[in-house]
Amino acid sequence: RLNAISAVNNATTTNKPLNFSEEKPTDLFGCNVFNDKVMQEHLPKAVYKSLKRTIENGEQMDPSIADAVAAAMKEWALSRGATHYTHVFYPLTGLTAEKHDSFLEPDGRGGAIAQFSGSTLIQGEPDASSFPNGGLRTTFEARGYTAWDLTNPAYLLENDNGIFLCIPTAFVSWTGEALDKKTPLLRSNQAVHTQASRLLKLLGHENFDRIQNFAGVEQEYFLVDRNFYFSRPDLYLAGRTLFGAKPAKGQEQDDHYFGTIPKRVLAFMIEAERELYKLGVPVKTRHNEVAPGQYEIAPMFEDSNLANDHNQMIMSVLKSVAKRYGMACLMHEKPFAGINGSGKHLNYSIGNGQFGSLFDPGETPHENAQFLLFCAAMIRAVHKHGSLLRSSVACASNDHRLGANEAPPAIMSIFLGDQLTDIFDQIKEGAEVTGKEKGILRVGVDTLPPIPMDAGDRNRTSPFAFTGNRFEFRAVGSSQSIAGAQLVLNTILSESLAYISDRLEKLVEDESVELNVAVTKIIQEIMKEHDNVVFNGDGYSEEWTIEAAKRGLANLRTTPEALPALNSPSSVAVFEEFGVLSNRELDSRVSIFFEQYINTLQTEVELAIKLARTSILPAAVRYQTELARNCLNMKELGLGCITGPLTKLTENLNGLESAANELESMLAKSHAGEQEHAHSLCNETLPVMTELREYADKLEEIVADDLWPLPTYQEMLFIK
Ligand code: ADP
Ligand code: MG
Repeated sequence: RLNAISAVNNATTTNKPLNFSEEKPTDLFGCNVFNDKVMQEHLPKAVYKSLKRTIENGEQMDPSIADAVAAAMKEWALSRGATHYTHVFYPLTGLTAEKHDSFLEPDGRGGAIAQFSGSTLIQGEPDASSFPNGGLRTTFEARGYTAWDLTNPAYLLENDNGIFLCIPTAFVSWTGEALDKKTPLLRSNQAVHTQASRLLKLLGHENFDRIQNFAGVEQEYFLVDRNFYFSRPDLYLAGRTLFGAKPAKGQEQDDHYFGTIPKRVLAFMIEAERELYKLGVPVKTRHNEVAPGQYEIAPMFEDSNLANDHNQMIMSVLKSVAKRYGMACLMHEKPFAGINGSGKHLNYSIGNGQFGSLFDPGETPHENAQFLLFCAAMIRAVHKHGSLLRSSVACASNDHRLGANEAPPAIMSIFLGDQLTDIFDQIKEGAEVTGKEKGILRVGVDTLPPIPMDAGDRNRTSPFAFTGNRFEFRAVGSSQSIAGAQLVLNTILSESLAYISDRLEKLVEDESVELNVAVTKIIQEIMKEHDNVVFNGDGYSEEWTIEAAKRGLANLRTTPEALPALNSPSSVAVFEEFGVLSNRELDSRVSIFFEQYINTLQTEVELAIKLARTSILPAAVRYQTELARNCLNMKELGLGCITGPLTKLTENLNGLESAANELESMLAKSHAGEQEHAHSLCNETLPVMTELREYADKLEEIVADDLWPLPTYQEMLFIK
């Protein structure tokens, strides 16, 4: 540990500064991406046009163009120095998976040529038998295959070992069942497009482009010097510290938030941004976060499928660039107890170039009415499917964060702000519909305040907040893929939009109600039934927990409590109705997520026992011996000795030993199924781990500093 501290001094802090006059943004941005410009240059005209139609309108791809696209991609990649291609996919582990294949193939005459055909572009077959599948594939027919997702561009990944052509893919079983995070996201894109279009047509729009759904992802992370990182097996194996006494200085002084970025960190950020620009990731903001050692990076929002790939790239680029600067980038939701954890705010909206965001109030009465209707759809969706939404962010590491008074609670509610809440309240109470000019959609009385929101109207404690032209879902964990939450939002919103369209058709067509009246009536009905989910107060307060229970809102505090909502009957119904996930796919996901929860906790418990016994206990015993010997010597000399530290140390050492033994016997217990196992780990084992930690952390405060083996919180958080 002491060596680690002195080694920090030798860390690299220099880099090549980014300078837009030398590295022109147009040359830099997307220079490693097989983007529209490159495609137009490299593809035959007819092929380019056909591919564009597929990408932009979601039309089926013409298989005959695959060879031409593959040839162009190969030529481009080879000219840029690539040696391998890889189908990149997102298995249910939440990680990014890739398998590299060489372009080089023997020509049968002792030589070799570079090969890459249309069929290898379209379909890959990773030996993927060990990816989790939750029973969707038995091992003997373990072949899942990766299918080219041509809506996202291929790109070149550069690292110290070479350059690779990366092809974004979906990962499915031979029966077509989804084994990844991307496939259902793509299906949900289709659903929300269909349902939003249907409603827009009923509202009188005729020709418009595809309705997309967008994601703007704010990624938080911690940086720790690698010398410390590798002296902490809990950090590099479990991603979080299992021990560590509270430092004398924490985040109380708020001196880190938006403060000056430390030199080495800034060098790292600039390099990471340069890499991300090359990959076409539109990185926009960077700043210090609340906790010491914590930072945030956020790109501009994009189409969700692209934003999902880009977020995965951000996570891997941050990790790999941090290494070059002698640091480790931690994506875990709670690497350090007692200070803020990391989240991933997911800014969500739907719309397109013509409409902008459909959650944007707009300037005309027509746009406002439409906005209120889409907003009401979102409110209804979150109220009806709050538990499902909660389950989409459930994982062992996120449990440490949700509800920990720094992140939104596990109760799903919506923040609308006072102004918008007031408008909805007035409609709910039966505001009159006026302004019946032909063709103009209006809702509410003319006395309603103008809708554009005050941007300062912010609430940081709500899990789902309206922020002017989008909703910000703040419960996603920093290590999680955004796909899970995004596809749930798309699916439940689709269901509400479909409900509204049905209702509107019924009122207008069957009952001849005037459109304006019908729209107002529907908003009114929705708010009467669902405005319990709207909460503008302090989500961290104890009163809210009580109030939410009264309102009938679920509070699923832990992963084992939350996961069953993912395949509950109402969830299965909505997923199946909109063709996003089948019952079997959902069951497999729930089973995989439970398995992951169990594996995470078991690893942590084993590690905690091992560290307690082989690092902490020996250090404490050494010090105990020293103190005991000192006492004996002092007595021999006829002088009194200080017994306080020895007694305290011995008490905590005994506590540590017995907690470790108890944990060990808990690990050996057998369980009736994964759910029971998960609950037992959550409710019985975790509290004993906390107990073990308390003993260890007290020992840290007693044992002589030079004997303490693990880098401390203050060292990891403040030495940069
Ligand atoms: P803050 O920290 O104030 O919430 P940031 O600027 O860090 O804001 O992040 C806001 C994110 O929301 C960015 O990624 C931004 O591009 C994104 N965003 C802005 N407008 C929309 C929208 N209409 N839909 C989705 N995301 C959006
Ligand atoms: Mg935000």
